[in-house]
Amino acid sequence: MAIYLDHSATTPLRAEALEAMLPFLTGEFGNASSTHGFGRKARAALDDAHERIATRIGAEAREIILTSGGTEALNLGLKGAAWAGKGHGHRLVTSPVEHHAVGHTLRYLEKFGFEVVELPVDRYGRVDPDQVEAAITDKTILVAIMLANNEVGTIQPVEEIGRRVRAHRDVLFAVDAVQAAPYLELDVHALGADLLAISAHKFEGPKGMGALYLRHGTHILAQQQGGEQERHRRGGTENVAGAVGMATAFDLAAAERPETVRRMKRLRERLQKAVLAVDGVELTGHPKDRLPGHLSLIARETDGTAVSVSLDLNGIAASVGSACTSGSTEVSHVLTAMGYPEEEARGALRLTLGRTTTETEIDEASAVIPPVIASMRMGSAAVAADPLGVGAGA
Ligand code: PLP
Repeated sequence: MAIYLDHSATTPLRAEALEAMLPFLTGEFGNASSTHGFGRKARAALDDAHERIATRIGAEAREIILTSGGTEALNLGLKGAAWAGKGHGHRLVTSPVEHHAVGHTLRYLEKFGFEVVELPVDRYGRVDPDQVEAAITDKTILVAIMLANNEVGTIQPVEEIGRRVRAHRDVLFAVDAVQAAPYLELDVHALGADLLAISAHKFEGPKGMGALYLRHGTHILAQQQGGEQERHRRGGTENVAGAVGMATAFDLAAAERPETVRRMKRLRERLQKAVLAVDGVELTGHPKDRLPGHLSLIARETDGTAVSVSLDLNGIAASVGSACTSGSTEVSHVLTAMGYPEEEARGALRLTLGRTTTETEIDEASAVIPPVIASMRMGSAAVAADPLGVGAGA
């Protein structure tokens, strides 16, 4: 069996979530909007899912809009807030290291006359809260900064940024917490968030299921017209099984979080030590303020895509960066924004552990990965003899 070290891309569905979902995929198939018994059962399960998800982030059930994932939650929140705020202003402030679900959504809004201000980040990918504050003018309607980065794992000083944004009454603060949700305790009030997005498949829930927190009283324009579902914010028959699976997985992830984080950090440190011992390999992202299972690297004089193919052939599932940029020849926009030149950024590799990663897997990965990377360094005699590194580490 291959060793899965790509938990930032997605996680396996946990058994408890599947078990909780099954009745709603079989006998209890009612439409939550129907008034008969079938419908009432579905409605009760859906209401309970809203309540449980809300409780885990310090929110109220009425502040949760269930969506088809993180991307939809962010599209709804950002576009919805931008259009609703158009009367006040047109300036949107963000960072250059956001996931494309934020970056591309804001670029889309630019086509309609919104101005997007991208703040610089430091070598670790962090935004300076002073710069956020300085970028806010009377035309600013929204600030969007992620809590934890999907490529390098860096955690942003979001609480501090939230404080600065909230000092301005008409400016909304949107937080992409998709990567952070499994591992960081989320409290929307402590973060100062008006909008916050999470996605179930990052914490062992089902794919295609997410949520947008919308602070009570915050006005957004619905982006999907239809029925009155999700308090008129998102038309369409609800995915009851998905909602139940998401709530179950999130409850468990939150309850087990302290122990999960401790274990994952310990295993990550062990793998990190083994991989950083290879010549020319260095850590990217913040050395301390990072997600517990995240190990992102640059292996100088390598091509990250070739390394990940070689690792795959050697039984290790890794990625070059975000799942979305895998398979494309584009260099990571995150590493570029952090100041890495293109030739270095090409050597990016991301290894991400999950709750289910075992000691044995990390022992094996620590033995297999270093020689594969070493053999892939350009100009090394080993590359010429074995271009895909198939023989290495085997
Ligand atoms: N934001 C971040 C930081 C992510 O890592 C991802 C997915 O990788 C998303 C948003 C999009 O979430 P989804 O895959 O649920 O659409």
